[in-house]
Amino acid sequence: MTYWPSVVVATPAHSGLAGPLTYRSEQPLAAGNLVRVPLGAREVLGIVWSCPSDPPADCSKEQLRPVSAVLDGLMPLGDGWRQLVAFAARYYQRGLGEMALSVLPPALRDLDNTQLARRLKRLAKVNDSAACPETPVARPQPSAEQQQVLDALGTLDRPALLYGSTGSGKTEVYLRATEQVLQDDPGGQVLVLVPEINLTPQLEARFRQRFEPRHGSTALVSLHSGMTPAQRLQAWLAAHAGTARIVLGTRMAIFASLPGLRLIVVDEEHDPSYKSQEGARYSARDLAVYRAKVESDRGPHPCRVILGSATPSLESWHAAEQGRYRRLAMPGRIGGGELPRLRLVDMNHQPKGATLSPPLLAAMEERIARGEQCLVLLNRRGYAPVLSCDACAWKSQCPHCSAFQVFHKLDRTLRCHHCGFTRRVPRACPDCGNLDIAPIGRGTEQIEEHLAGLLSRAVRPDGTPARVARMDADTTRTKGSLEQQLQALHEGEVDVLVGTQMVAKGHDFRRITLVAGLNVDAALFASDYRAPERLFALLMQAAGRAGRDAGHSGRSEMWVQTWHPTHPLFAALKKHDYPAFAAEQLAEREAAAMPPFGYQALLRADARTQDAAQAYLNGVADAAADLPGRDEVTLYPAVPLPIQRVANVERAQMLVESHSRQALQRFLWAWQPLLLQGRGLPEARGLIRFAVDVDPLAV
Ligand code: ADP
Ligand code: ZN
Ligand code: ZN
Repeated sequence: MTYWPSVVVATPAHSGLAGPLTYRSEQPLAAGNLVRVPLGAREVLGIVWSCPSDPPADCSKEQLRPVSAVLDGLMPLGDGWRQLVAFAARYYQRGLGEMALSVLPPALRDLDNTQLARRLKRLAKVNDSAACPETPVARPQPSAEQQQVLDALGTLDRPALLYGSTGSGKTEVYLRATEQVLQDDPGGQVLVLVPEINLTPQLEARFRQRFEPRHGSTALVSLHSGMTPAQRLQAWLAAHAGTARIVLGTRMAIFASLPGLRLIVVDEEHDPSYKSQEGARYSARDLAVYRAKVESDRGPHPCRVILGSATPSLESWHAAEQGRYRRLAMPGRIGGGELPRLRLVDMNHQPKGATLSPPLLAAMEERIARGEQCLVLLNRRGYAPVLSCDACAWKSQCPHCSAFQVFHKLDRTLRCHHCGFTRRVPRACPDCGNLDIAPIGRGTEQIEEHLAGLLSRAVRPDGTPARVARMDADTTRTKGSLEQQLQALHEGEVDVLVGTQMVAKGHDFRRITLVAGLNVDAALFASDYRAPERLFALLMQAAGRAGRDAGHSGRSEMWVQTWHPTHPLFAALKKHDYPAFAAEQLAEREAAAMPPFGYQALLRADARTQDAAQAYLNGVADAAADLPGRDEVTLYPAVPLPIQRVANVERAQMLVESHSRQALQRFLWAWQPLLLQGRGLPEARGLIRFAVDVDPLAV
């Protein structure tokens, strides 16, 4: 008997949003089977979407080519997984094949049945190793707040928003909830998402400590882009086979195949890293909510989702206000410690040109003398953002971007943080020969150098001089360097740590009692309407690094240097009053019909010239005039991106807005064919690519 499977394959981006292709097979195949099929002259990996025994009506069956091979050693991808992928493709305006194949581990593409069998055997073998369900494992007694949350989780009928202060013990709640799943359901699986690879090692350590003794080392796998293709494949297989009960990962892990999924945790759910910025621009947080619902609707067991944060995204906060999410609050810190007091330094009243104000320096010296640690936050790496000539107009402009190259003093380079273009620092001005070229503005390298000088006389309790270190993307590039630096900090080898937002996130520093934020003002007045939300979250997170040791917490402080101390954001920050801040921001958003009260998408165009990019956008907007649903969306004029040119590519975008998510979706789908056709517009010559970004994070 002959079957006519429809198979999803990775069609190249921009070939149109082609659906599954039909092949023939002499054996029945299951939906979710992985197969190899001919595509043009190549043979590619595909996923069976359905397998009818009736030939398709719309094409002659003689032309249909047979499936080349079936990876039948592998359990088919589940219905839930396929539903997730199909939804993601639809919602984020991508081809189904592109979406589905791009979220499978790349190493799967070259795998045959023999190799697969070998890998699966290896999985089964290690899994037999020592794990004893009776091993006693030390774990803290839940606090009253934690217990309340855990009780509520037991009867949860909607997504939970775990709104817990930094240090309130959210991670302990995740551990307990995980334990519950493993205990209740022998096949149950848990997915824990973190915003950054950097945060996986310490979380993994905590989960291993808790679950390895009873469940074995193979019960837990990580999934993130820092792994080799082989590691990633092995972890993926472990999750798919159900050997791995717990999967820890970054946003891409939302697409892991987890046949027994019962719980999804999204830690620091407000973090922008959950939104992909390339390819299919999906939000792993939003997909987590969708996935949990799909799994719950399908199976006999509910799949729960916990979104955790001390500063939830306004979207999630709003959903909780409306009752779509259940808010579970843990306002207190473990051990009763207090959140740090906010100290605002009014820069209008400080010595002219001071980067670090005298009162802040004095406060830092005091901490150092007591053997406590300080954290200084500046969201700009390098030594100075620009080099400039005093005598002429020369600046360290990147030749390929509309941005400056950043001066890195340590290796005497000018580096573009957008395209990566790097050159030696010129000895004299390239335009006029002047020898006086000077850095303008400050980055972490300079603050580190500056602080080392200013604190050269500060002494530690043992009489030794204070030590200043830096942690940012430049110092943590090599493998293991981050762990080393964190270790040094934990062991008290460092008194003052200067860093970018990287240090503000998640780490559990015990002896930090002072956190200082420098140069935060730009975010107060940025054109991006989400900037205040980000700043508030960043400062709250950073403040959360201080006083985690209850013994020190009484005197822990968050210092912020600002020229605008009366800004309302600081008033809310001072009271650690996220609800007040959120209410004010949400009122503003509602008045302006902005998310979460309105729905947005961006159409982006990259081209050789800015004119072509904009002409394309305006052209396809004109072409949309008669589309159904056009009257329910607003199309704004095309504009250049804030950084208009990167790596010699001109970038422009068009904002699309609607009062309704459905209306926006309907319009975008109707628009797709015109977006493809628009590439042929004569005025759009030089267009390189376009992309749709649904629910963009920056407009
Ligand atoms: P969060 O994730 O909310 O920032 P953590 O879960 O990291 O907080 O908890 C902060 C600290 O308190 C950790 O060192 C953790 O081990 C400890 N802790 C958490 N819950 C308890 C508890 N119930 N009893 C004692 N210590 C706890
Ligand atoms: Zn010059
Ligand atoms: Zn550049």
